[in-house]
Amino acid sequence: MKPRWLSLLLIATLGISACSEAPLQVYKAKLFTLGTLVDVSVFHPDEAAAQQAITIVETELAAINRQWHAWRDSPLTLINQQLAQGKTVTIDSATHHFIQQAQTLAADSDQLFNPTIGSLVELWGFHSDDRPDGAPPAQEKIDAALTQSPSMANVTLTVTTLTSNHPAVQFDFGAFGKGYAIDRAVEQLKLAGIKNAIVNAGGDLRAIGSKGKQPWRIGVRHPTEAGVIASIETNGDESVFTSGNYERFFDFDGRRYHHIIDPRSGYPANDAVSVTVIHNNAATADAAATALFIAGTTQWPQIAKQMGVDKVMLIGNDLTIYMTQKMAQRIHLEIDDAQIKIIGNDT
Ligand code: ADP
Ligand code: MG
Repeated sequence: MKPRWLSLLLIATLGISACSEAPLQVYKAKLFTLGTLVDVSVFHPDEAAAQQAITIVETELAAINRQWHAWRDSPLTLINQQLAQGKTVTIDSATHHFIQQAQTLAADSDQLFNPTIGSLVELWGFHSDDRPDGAPPAQEKIDAALTQSPSMANVTLTVTTLTSNHPAVQFDFGAFGKGYAIDRAVEQLKLAGIKNAIVNAGGDLRAIGSKGKQPWRIGVRHPTEAGVIASIETNGDESVFTSGNYERFFDFDGRRYHHIIDPRSGYPANDAVSVTVIHNNAATADAAATALFIAGTTQWPQIAKQMGVDKVMLIGNDLTIYMTQKMAQRIHLEIDDAQIKIIGNDT
């Protein structure tokens, strides 16, 4: 997650009046955090209130980015040092809540979402602001990491402490932190009385309410071509998250190596090109998109069920589109010639 701030841009444009009272206007902010460009759009009649809410969100996102940064010196890297030394880490309640939610999601995913494999992610070169180059890691190094195979089951939490019974536990919350941060941001917006807003971190987002009289409409990126493969209209309070093999990767000897690592093989997961999840909780959607990407074309329905997510689209290597019935009811495909497999939500 890069804490570089590009700019904060506030634009007010006239929106559509939702009722006969004060007209709703859209206020937008763009900021660079969580390793991506984050767009915050707020529909509200009162400019001062909207801008104040946006400032609170901006502060919240920056704080979470600083706290959980996996490779710059951060409270997280300090926790990792303490765990490597076998120490008991003293934690505050926000940290407790964050790690506890990640631990539950990890267990529900059969540890495919495994935020303790920071060493493996680093071995693959993804603990850097820059794209890795050169060869993939040596097989012996991957084997050595695999013989360790820590998981969230090795982590014990109390309200004020964190311990691990495995020396290899190194946290990396790259598959979950963005979702968690977006949940906190939306909570802050709601507390500030905002009913219509969207927090969009590079295509991963949570939307509440609507955009005036229109629902928020989301594009899902095509995994292998420019443009979108599908669109979704959000309903009430919903998050849409996508994990893809095109987000962070390097190519070597004609093969692509990307940043979603299968903890079972130690290699980038290779049975999907992207997974999109709709869920009311952004952190759940984030972790599930990653876990289902790793689960691949045959295992994903079972893991989705365990994680409590029922709106899923997985695109396989041959671009076959697998989706749950509930996703099929919600998504609009923007391509004509797709091979589609609908999986019943009861399977
Ligand atoms: P993005 O952040 O691009 O939307 P993901 O949400 O799928 O993508 O998160 C990928 C990131 O999660 C990686 O960059 C890495 O930091 C971390 N990660 C990689 N493999 C796993 C895994 N099996 N479990 C948990 N986190 C992982
Ligand atoms: Mg994720």
